[in-house]
Amino acid sequence: MLQVKKQLFPQALYSAGLLQLFLACQRNKVTILMLHGVIDPETPSTWKPLRSQLTTEQLSKTLAILAQYYNFVSLPEATEMLAGTRPLVPNSLALTFDDGYRNNLTSALPILRKFKAPATIFLCTGNITKQEPFWFDRLDYAIQSMNSNAVSRQGIPELAAFDFSTRETLTRSFITFIRKEKTNYSTDADMRSTIGNLTERMEQRSGQGLAEILADDPWSGVLTWDEVQRAASEVHFGSHGVDHCQLGLIPPKAAKEELLASREAIEFHTGSPCRHLAYPNGSFTNGLILLVKDCKYLSAVTSVHGLNRPGAEMLTLRRMVFPRDCTLAGAISETTGLSTYWRRICTKFS
Ligand SMILES: [Zn+2]
Repeated sequence: MLQVKKQLFPQALYSAGLLQLFLACQRNKVTILMLHGVIDPETPSTWKPLRSQLTTEQLSKTLAILAQYYNFVSLPEATEMLAGTRPLVPNSLALTFDDGYRNNLTSALPILRKFKAPATIFLCTGNITKQEPFWFDRLDYAIQSMNSNAVSRQGIPELAAFDFSTRETLTRSFITFIRKEKTNYSTDADMRSTIGNLTERMEQRSGQGLAEILADDPWSGVLTWDEVQRAASEVHFGSHGVDHCQLGLIPPKAAKEELLASREAIEFHTGSPCRHLAYPNGSFTNGLILLVKDCKYLSAVTSVHGLNRPGAEMLTLRRMVFPRDCTLAGAISETTGLSTYWRRICTKFS
């Protein structure tokens, strides 16, 4: 019942013209959308991540809707508008991709070209250089490699937190586990050490690991520097740190090194200034913001939901998650934030 209400709400608002009115009221705010991997589900692959992935069909359908209401701008253009150094274009929307998956170029870019939608991809320079999977993808792959045989799970007590009954239950328990782990530690090093240890034990048990298939994996494969260099005339690249560390949870000296090293690597390989940052896991502190400023970044985007007004604090810009709902009313209620308000109300009265 609640689910039906959630779906009907945007449609009812759209039919009454209120959604369009709400959008018009926000015309002078800048929308920045956050995406990660984009995948064509038909692409042959030996596995599929538990974490939900945006499909090429969802990207294409939703961009077709957004193109009717928004003006696509690059992130550097959006930040200049917010800083007041470029005239504000009403209903501006910028697309940002976190992590630097190869599928951003192979699957998403051809669609973005069709809609003349500029993209910024935030790279983890260490993962590119070492061609290493992200810890969350590696963990996902290792958990699934434990799925086929209950005997293989014996002796790994942490796996009691996972419900292997169906893919759906495993997905739910995996998402809960990841969320809990991200908030469970006071330092990034503690989190990585614990999760790395668990992943290694599972890899030893199954005899397989994501690193072995990374180069050809359409889901988790990371860009190479050659690919970055070739795309640099068309795509804007920003920093997502070196190793996807939660920058707010590492010592200031290490955070500064990450901020500088990632910026320098990107500038070296693209030949263009790198002045925009996305905080990995949305982790930042007041002290980190000062370091980001010291390291000459002009903007930094967070995972805090919201739109941005001109004059916004440039090192804590807000983003909205790219809508998965491919209906007009659903997509617009997501990008304007109306669906967030509605979800809060539903949760309060459920
Ligand atoms: Zn990330």
